[in-house]
Amino acid sequence: MAELSSKTVEFIRSPKQLLINGRWENAVSGKTFPVTNPATAEIIAHVAEGDQADVDKAVRAARQALESRAWANITPSDRGKLIWRIGDLILQHADELAELEALDNGKPVTVARSADVALAADIFHYMAGWATKLHGLTIPLSVPYLPDANFHCYTRLEPVGVVGQIIPWNFPLLMAAWKLSPALTTGCTVVLKVAEETPLSAIRLGELLLEAGLPDGVVNIITGFGETAGAALAAHPLVDKIAFTGSTEVGKLVVKAAAGNLKKVTLELGGKSPNIVLKDADLDVAIPGAAHAIFFNHGQCCIAGSRLYVAKEIFDEVIEGVAEIAEKIKLGPGLDPQTEMGPMVSDLQLNRVCGYLQSGLQEGAKAVCGGRKRLGAGYFVEPTVLVDTTPQMKVVQEEIFGPVVTAMPFKAMDEQLIRQANDTIYGLGAGIWTRDLGKAHRLANQLQAGSVWINCYNIFDAALPFGGYKQSGWGREMGSAVLEHYTQAKAVTVNIG
Ligand code: ADP
Repeated sequence: MAELSSKTVEFIRSPKQLLINGRWENAVSGKTFPVTNPATAEIIAHVAEGDQADVDKAVRAARQALESRAWANITPSDRGKLIWRIGDLILQHADELAELEALDNGKPVTVARSADVALAADIFHYMAGWATKLHGLTIPLSVPYLPDANFHCYTRLEPVGVVGQIIPWNFPLLMAAWKLSPALTTGCTVVLKVAEETPLSAIRLGELLLEAGLPDGVVNIITGFGETAGAALAAHPLVDKIAFTGSTEVGKLVVKAAAGNLKKVTLELGGKSPNIVLKDADLDVAIPGAAHAIFFNHGQCCIAGSRLYVAKEIFDEVIEGVAEIAEKIKLGPGLDPQTEMGPMVSDLQLNRVCGYLQSGLQEGAKAVCGGRKRLGAGYFVEPTVLVDTTPQMKVVQEEIFGPVVTAMPFKAMDEQLIRQANDTIYGLGAGIWTRDLGKAHRLANQLQAGSVWINCYNIFDAALPFGGYKQSGWGREMGSAVLEHYTQAKAVTVNIG
């Protein structure tokens, strides 16, 4: 296994504090909590345990920064350059950030480097360009009750204000980047609450934000637990907007907490995405594609292609192919460059996934491969393909968030297939595999999902909006679509006589 670089060792040994108003501080309570390496179950570091008192300090710092000259008066061009610099710094420290991600989350270091870190840098670079392009409109008025009047009317896009952001553990650095970059480009200020399972890369990112020259208080970072720090942020009366990524269950709690002062809310929640292989699909592409759709990031993706629907004529061939890939996936610690799939992020997550496996098997599903926890240290689960499932089973209805796909044959591309594919409370993603693009487009139109991939899966880009239909969320991340959630339009009407 690869040794940790000296930079990472030094970082791990340094104190892990909260970033409040441009300074690193201990929690008011003085408490810390341990962070675990999921590949070994060993403690790596201790991190400040922020709670309500720290959230309050951070929110007040963000409030002050919102109106500060250093932030409110910065030109759009300079704001863009600052955000661009953050992207550059992420790339300069890419290896170190990838190592932290592998250590803390468990994902393969090669994937962290090529996907998580690269995409995190890219969204800062993409959003930097928007700082100078937040145009309002000029609007011609008619005002029927004042036929002789003459107005000049325009809109300004102003920052929504202080934003509370709560992120999960599956892509720790990337989720921080998806959240922070639109907030900064629109001139908002932020209190970011990172996931308790994976706080390390966000702390390192905080150091890079200061190095980039971000004014004090513009981004504040709180490590701590959801029920305390997260809940306090969602309820805080001085927060104008809350942006949450996590489970649908907690998303509903966030909505309730946000109601106190009617915060604007955006949510990116769970999924149970259908992945459909039509009988004319190119199986050399569709089989590895279906495996990648579920096994990428160990299935710990809200958009994982976790319900595989395959035309009955090719069902056996596709399932055999996906199972063969699953069996060859090399499980190991994220830091090992040979590793293709790391452990689940925590023992809690491991037990959750194993609970679903047990429930599926008890209800009559059959594991073509995998189906078990891997014995030994660390939180490893075998990549699993379940067949003989029925639409009512828990494994088909609920989000497992692990490397487990349920596979079902279908007779034809008809109403019944579409009904089955859409038979979920979620609506995040969907995949379609076929050589017939006409069919693919028709099917794409009928699937209730925020992202549909045709002959590909898990394609993310800073320019593409990402978000969910139904209970998968409110609003969109990335692209120009996210900007409307971080700005508010002010209509200014001038009587010009
Ligand atoms: P998961 O079940 O995958 O861990 P969660 O939805 O529980 O996902 O967690 C996502 C984020 O939400 C984490 O940062 C977590 O600390 C936070 N969180 C958990 N509970 C609450 C809550 N009651 N209020 C606000 N944030 C919360």
